[in-house]
Amino acid sequence: MAVPDLKPGGTHTDLLVSCYNAGIRLSGSDDGFLHVESPVGVLTDAVRTALRDHKPMLLAVLWRLDGMLTHRAPVPTAKSATDAPGGPGRCFSCGDVHEHPHAYGRCAWCSLAAEAFYRLRGGPWDDIQTVRRQQK
Ligand SMILES: [Zn+2]
Repeated sequence: MAVPDLKPGGTHTDLLVSCYNAGIRLSGSDDGFLHVESPVGVLTDAVRTALRDHKPMLLAVLWRLDGMLTHRAPVPTAKSATDAPGGPGRCFSCGDVHEHPHAYGRCAWCSLAAEAFYRLRGGPWDDIQTVRRQQK
């Protein structure tokens, strides 16, 4: 398993995708903890520092990404919550309120999660989610 490729100037999504591709599994909890599962030798000091530095972003994006990877029926879609109300002033993906009351589309966090969703599809993370769905 390769160590995550932390490119200087990489985006939040680059960090998230490189961690998943290196076998690191990230999950957030409601009480603000970032849970990290990693193969031995992959979680270097540089990766730990990057995860700590990007923790607020990761916590905001991970539950949205998990929703996108889970909600696939009837059609696979990059939507965080199937019950998000959408419409003017709300993110159609997660339901959070936009800054502008008449804005449409995804919020910034859902945009990051959607980018990761499309970059991770078909990879090892996708296989794990498929197994999880079959176990439910
Ligand atoms: Zn959103």
